[in-house]
Amino acid sequence: MGFIAERMSRIKPSPTVAVTAKANELKAQGVDVIGLGAGEPDFDTPDHIKEAATKALAEGKTKYGPPPGILPLREAICRKFERDNHLKYTPDQISVGCGGKQTIFNAMQATIDAGDEVIIPAPYWVSYTDITMLCEGKPVVVDCPADAGFKLTPEQLRAAITPKTKWLMLNSPSNPTGACYTREELKALAAVLLEEANAHVHVMTDDMYEKIVYDGFQFSTIAEAEPALFDRTLTLNGLSKAYAMTGWRLGYAAGNVELIKQMNKLNSQSVTSPATFVQWAAVAALDGDHGFIEKNNTVFKQRRDLVVGKLNEAPGLECLVPEGAFYVYPSCKGVIGKTTPDGTKIDSDEAFVKYLLEAKGVACVHGEAFGLSPYFRISYATATDALEEACTRIQHACEALS
Ligand code: GLU
Repeated sequence: MGFIAERMSRIKPSPTVAVTAKANELKAQGVDVIGLGAGEPDFDTPDHIKEAATKALAEGKTKYGPPPGILPLREAICRKFERDNHLKYTPDQISVGCGGKQTIFNAMQATIDAGDEVIIPAPYWVSYTDITMLCEGKPVVVDCPADAGFKLTPEQLRAAITPKTKWLMLNSPSNPTGACYTREELKALAAVLLEEANAHVHVMTDDMYEKIVYDGFQFSTIAEAEPALFDRTLTLNGLSKAYAMTGWRLGYAAGNVELIKQMNKLNSQSVTSPATFVQWAAVAALDGDHGFIEKNNTVFKQRRDLVVGKLNEAPGLECLVPEGAFYVYPSCKGVIGKTTPDGTKIDSDEAFVKYLLEAKGVACVHGEAFGLSPYFRISYATATDALEEACTRIQHACEALS
């Protein structure tokens, strides 16, 4: 019997976090690396949010907070859901966590017993599967490739459900593809869940990229698209992406009171609550001016178009135009089987991404990490000139393959 618990062997370190750390480490050593690995806006947190945190500190809001989150924040979250999503939650239906990741962690811990299944459309955000496995659950991964727009169909959902299914995991706009489900598509998935045989399945929807959409796309969330699922839906969101607050660690969940109580119990036995002054800053973010989001999105959209255009010019790559988030997920099928100038065979998306880093100093995340190959993820939440240079390097890297 080893010292380290068996459960730790079921999971690996987050690949997105690892690529970001690796790129930063190389940069610190003076290596010329352009990091396109991190899903993190390069914009700074808006001043009015920082000022609210400073004010909270000055006012001594530095003590433990209640495990569900401070009431003014849960009230602000309820206002947000009503304003943006026409969903009526009460503060006892809200649980606040240290980032979206911890909120998902709490929800899974609170609901997954050994062998319970979670349906996860692939490509998926890297942590959904590992958090499921840490809880002794079984990820049921359903492939949703580029020709399906990276989206799950009602038929695929129906086929994936078993008596052990606990959750369907949805994420729109998606990390890593940027794909967005329309209201009609969500209604069609919901219709499957409303079939009598599927009444035991709940939905966890990760709406972290809700506000980062382009070309007039109308965001919708499943509890709004199908009110009959309201009580079976856990709606997750957070401040990291749209508010450029990744390092503040503030996420939240809204759902059934009993589930929320259990998630709060986990908070009380782990983090107690997110940092109190961060919660006050979150109130200012949710209730405050949102004009900066549109400005940021205008920049993101220019970058998206730049990246998609340049990648589609690279031999062997093919890239869809996503409607949201700040990622593209190009296929690299056309470079698999080719050989690099130093004689290395590219036999996987991981090998391709390694080649991009070693030969051209461009850090991306390989598709295998997101459960669907051969693709790779680029985050375009990075300075436009660096992105342009990175895409030129990727083009040259592809041209150099034989
Ligand atoms: N969610 C971001 C990403 O996918 C941040 C890193 C992480 O938590 O995975 O890159």
